[in-house]
Amino acid sequence: MQPDDLTIAGYIGEHYNSPMGLSAAVFTAGLLSWTLLEYVIHGWMAHLHDTFVAPIHAVHHRDPYAVFAIKAWLPSMAVAALLFGVFGAAPGAIFYLGLLCGFAAYEVEHYRIHFAARLAPVERRLRDRHLVHHLRRPTMCLGVVTGFWDKVFGTEPLRPELDALCASVRDVPPLSGPSNLHQFLSSLRSSH
Ligand SMILES: [Zn+2]
Ligand SMILES: [Zn+2]
Repeated sequence: MQPDDLTIAGYIGEHYNSPMGLSAAVFTAGLLSWTLLEYVIHGWMAHLHDTFVAPIHAVHHRDPYAVFAIKAWLPSMAVAALLFGVFGAAPGAIFYLGLLCGFAAYEVEHYRIHFAARLAPVERRLRDRHLVHHLRRPTMCLGVVTGFWDKVFGTEPLRPELDALCASVRDVPPLSGPSNLHQFLSSLRSSH
């Protein structure tokens, strides 16, 4: 097996007779597009405009332990099952799978930003930015896994101010104790 075949798109290409290069490109496009979708959902729909997402996301700002969007998981995966069930490994379905993997990566990184005691340097910057969003400037630093779209749409403070804001939240300790996912899992266990 070639190293390239170890990717999800490679697996799909091999098992569904879709050209692998195309699958890989479409999957990557979906994955990268997640960052824009994340900005749209979190920035525009939760903070800058009053949509149905705003009250749902406000729960996380009141209680950062509620870090996982658990209720979105099942419908998101159901859409993937439907797309692959109906269309097979069509480019649209593969694109959606890329988006979904972006969403999964966001969930993990958002959890780590709030809870992890040790972070890689790039994650530390993401953590600083996200805590600036939580604690200092709720309508700024709206991207979680990247600051790219904040720069594009002008929702990032200018560099000296951003650096000062980041420094002001750097000593905030990570959360300890169960996240909403841990609470959800232990409620499942105790109900049996
Ligand atoms: Zn927010
Ligand atoms: Zn957060």
